[in-house]
Amino acid sequence: PALVSLREITKIFSNGVTALAGFDLDVFPGEFVSLLGPSGCGKSTVLRLIADLAQPTDGSVTWPGSTDDDHRGEIGFVFQDPTLMPWANVADNAWLPLRLRGVSKRDARDRIAESLALVGLSDFAKAYPRELSGGMRMRVSIARALSLKPRLLLMDEPFAALDEIARFRLNDDLLRLQGDLHCTIVFVTHSVYESAYLSSRIAVMSSRPGRVVADIRGEAPGPRS
Ligand code: ADP
Ligand code: ADP
Repeated sequence: PALVSLREITKIFSNGVTALAGFDLDVFPGEFVSLLGPSGCGKSTVLRLIADLAQPTDGSVTWPGSTDDDHRGEIGFVFQDPTLMPWANVADNAWLPLRLRGVSKRDARDRIAESLALVGLSDFAKAYPRELSGGMRMRVSIARALSLKPRLLLMDEPFAALDEIARFRLNDDLLRLQGDLHCTIVFVTHSVYESAYLSSRIAVMSSRPGRVVADIRGEAPGPRS
C-alpha cells in the first residue's frame, strides 16, 4: 500500500487563492519522488499537507499502510533555508528536535553522530553555523532531519539557494544517502535537471490551480549506484 495517499485535494487559502484543485498523489515506500513544477504551483503546499502543517479544504490525506494516528513523528522536513539556530553549535542544533520528541540524551548523541557522519560532517559537531559554508549548513539541516529516523523525508527546494558546485555535490550525497537509508523522499524542485538526476519518479505539476499533469516513473525505480 501507499505510505501516504493524497486524494482529490483542494486547498483554498483564506485570501481566496486556490493553490490546489483535483490534486492526487500516492507515495509508495522507498520511492524518491520529485514534485516538479513552476514557482507558485502549490508544491510547498503539498509538503505542508503531508506534514500536517496545513489542512486541505477538501479531499483527504491518509496513511494506508499504517495504524499510527500521529504521523508527524515519522516525518523529517528539510526547508529551503537551513534555519539553524546561530547561538547553538551543530550538535545542539540537531539535538533540539530530538529533545522535543523525548529522545534521551544518550540516544540522541548516538543518532546525531551517525547522521553527521552520513553527511560528512563528523568533525564539525562543535562548530557554529556562522563558521560553515552554505553547503555545509544545508548538510547540517539534512543531518538534523535524519536524526529523527524519519520514514518519510520531505525536502522543499533544499539546494535552491546554493551555487552550482555545492548543488551538484549535495545531489550526489543525497543519492548515496537514499541508497544507504532506504527512506522515502518527496523532493520539491523547479529544476528539471535535479528531478531527472535524483528521483525514481517525477510528478509534474501545473499551476492555476495546482495539480499533477504527468506522473513519470523510470524503468528501474530507486537510486542509482
Ligand atoms: P510553490 O511551492 O510551488 O512555489 P506554494 O505551495 O508555495 O507554491 O504556493 C501555491 C500558491 O498558494 C501560490 O499562489 C501562493 O502565493 C499561495 N499561497 C501559499 N501559501 C499561502 C498562504 N499561507 N496564504 C495565502 N496564499 C498562499
Ligand atoms: P559550498 O560549496 O557551499 O562552499 P561545501 O559543502 O561544498 O559548501 O564546502 C565548501 C568547503 O568547505 C570545502 O571546499 C571544504 O574546504 C570545506 N568542507 C566542506 N565539508 C567538509 C568536510 N566534511 N570536512 C572538511 N572540510 C569541509
